[in-house]
Amino acid sequence: MLRRPISIYNIDRNNIEFVFQVKGKGTRILSSKEEGEEIDILGPLGKGTFKYEGTKNIAIIGGGIGIFPLYELAKSAKETAKINMYLGFRNKEFVVLEEEYKKLADKFILTTDDGTYGSKGYAIDFLKEDLKKNNIDMIFACGPLPMLKAVQKLAKETNTPCQISLEERMGCGLGVCLGCAVKVNAGEQEIYTHVCKAGPVFDSNIVEI
Ligand SMILES: Cc1cc2nc3c(=O)[nH]c(=O)nc-3n(C[C@H](O)[C@H](O)[C@H](O)COP(=O)(O)OP(=O)(O)OC[C@H]3O[C@@H](n4cnc5c(N)ncnc54)[C@H](O)[C@@H]3O)c2cc1C
Repeated sequence: MLRRPISIYNIDRNNIEFVFQVKGKGTRILSSKEEGEEIDILGPLGKGTFKYEGTKNIAIIGGGIGIFPLYELAKSAKETAKINMYLGFRNKEFVVLEEEYKKLADKFILTTDDGTYGSKGYAIDFLKEDLKKNNIDMIFACGPLPMLKAVQKLAKETNTPCQISLEERMGCGLGVCLGCAVKVNAGEQEIYTHVCKAGPVFDSNIVEI
């Protein structure tokens, strides 16, 4: 059985925390582990995470399970930057870690697609409004592909620097199986890179999703 990619949610002195949603066989097995049981972990893999250094006023947008890798970013960036946070979920049942993220945010927006909790609609619509009036110097995003595509488009239209974390399905995690290939914007040439090794975070102008 192949490993499953899970982001580091929180680093606290000697502890690291993961938060995951049970989707299929792998995460079900993981969720059945008892306290004290050993698990075999390979990592951290890839090229690290978001680069926030030098920013002063940032927008962090996440959707569904994509919100988990944004916590460490918000925690670290908060030291120097104002945090505008936009979290989107399918419905009330999927809302997690609201209080944890709220504590870190200077501005906090939570949406559900069906309006069963928070504001009704998509988180990106609130970000779009704020980009018009706030001086946001960088967008950071992680979430489902349709959301990332919309964020990528918005960043391009508004000329806002943007980093996106891709949650492509992965096999080996080491750049060997080539399962998580993503096309890189290289003019005429067709170039692919691998999310597990070169990512998972990319400049949104670089990758074609
Ligand atoms: C870099 C990275 C970081 C991730 N971090 C987290 C995290 O912190 N917390 C978390 O809950 N999940 C995270 N995921 C997603 C997680 O890896 C998958 O949900 C998990 O691998 C599913 O495994 P499974 O055996 O339970 O389900 P499977 O039986 O393999 O699949 C069950 C269902 O989930 C879908 N699925 C599986 N993997 C993905 C994926 N990557 N994207 C979209 N749909 C998928 C399948 O198509 C299928 O419908 C991350 C993924 C990546 C690539």
